[in-house]
Amino acid sequence: MERKNLVLVSIALVCSMQLFAWGKTGHRVVGYVAQQHISKKAHKNIDKLLNGYSLEMSGNYMDFIKADTNYKHMGAWHYVSIPDGKTYEDITKNPKGDVIWAIETLIEELKTKKFKIVPSEEFAVMALVHFVGDLHQPLHVGLPEDKGGNSIKVEFFGDKTNLHRVWDSDLIEHQGLSYTEWGGHINRGVDRLQVLEWQSTTVRDWAAESQQLRTQCYDFGNSTNLKYEYIYRHMGTVEKRLEQAGVRLAGILNELYG
Ligand SMILES: [Zn+2]
Repeated sequence: MERKNLVLVSIALVCSMQLFAWGKTGHRVVGYVAQQHISKKAHKNIDKLLNGYSLEMSGNYMDFIKADTNYKHMGAWHYVSIPDGKTYEDITKNPKGDVIWAIETLIEELKTKKFKIVPSEEFAVMALVHFVGDLHQPLHVGLPEDKGGNSIKVEFFGDKTNLHRVWDSDLIEHQGLSYTEWGGHINRGVDRLQVLEWQSTTVRDWAAESQQLRTQCYDFGNSTNLKYEYIYRHMGTVEKRLEQAGVRLAGILNELYG
């Protein structure tokens, strides 16, 4: 990647006030976990391709470019809407694309090295890091009627937010950990068998898992001011999804570059 673009990404990082997807920390955690599970060869090849730009920092690229009108058409690639009781195969696909389509297409383009939906191989890898993370956030496989929880107004320790944002970032930021501390914490004790099991699943399986998990996100009892009890009940899911995303991302990258 050109230096010029890296500078732009860094500026966007400072300026970006909006929160998208897992939020900046969550996406960096996914990149950090993936980094722990990629082979030496994959690491070397990706390092060369991204000119040393880390997977951790790559994770937020797709959110930063939302400020650039040239990439506006990629907005729908961050999520998929599936009603309860339906599967991805059942629904009429969004003509603008969705996160499942985006990941499957990016993997295909990275295999064939023919880039059609993105401008380059570097772009494809950075997009993949981001979208694999997004797909593991349960509310990114959302209900169409509430836009994946975006229109469910709640409070988090008294601060106005919405259910989608609680899952993207409020639950993660509340811990007050850096992405390396987060990554180290969730990556502890994940054994080889678990890694292989998680990596043996498909993109559609990850989506089905999120769809199944999303129901519990709405389980906030009588009060919409979410506090310690909500964190206590759901933090395990947040941790597991971030870890699975990182491990599975590494699985794809090992296949492509290992
Ligand atoms: Zn996103």
